[in-house]
Amino acid sequence: MILKLIIFAIAGLLIYKFFGGKLPKLGRSLHEKKLDEDTLVECETCHTYVTAKESMIVGAKYYCSQECIAQIRK
Ligand SMILES: [Zn+2]
Repeated sequence: MILKLIIFAIAGLLIYKFFGGKLPKLGRSLHEKKLDEDTLVECETCHTYVTAKESMIVGAKYYCSQECIAQIRK
């Protein structure tokens, strides 16, 4: 019984190390696919460049402010 537990512990540790080395990289590469919040995007209405963090997305298009969104809806 104890031997089984030791084997399980070693196997678990190896699996943990195997994934522990790979999972953070995988998570980071998935995150990089997302638009960086400092990436500049162009406002559809006034063509001002704003960071993705500051922009507003309406209908898969970027807008710099509520005023620009209001203009497109007129
Ligand atoms: Zn704008």
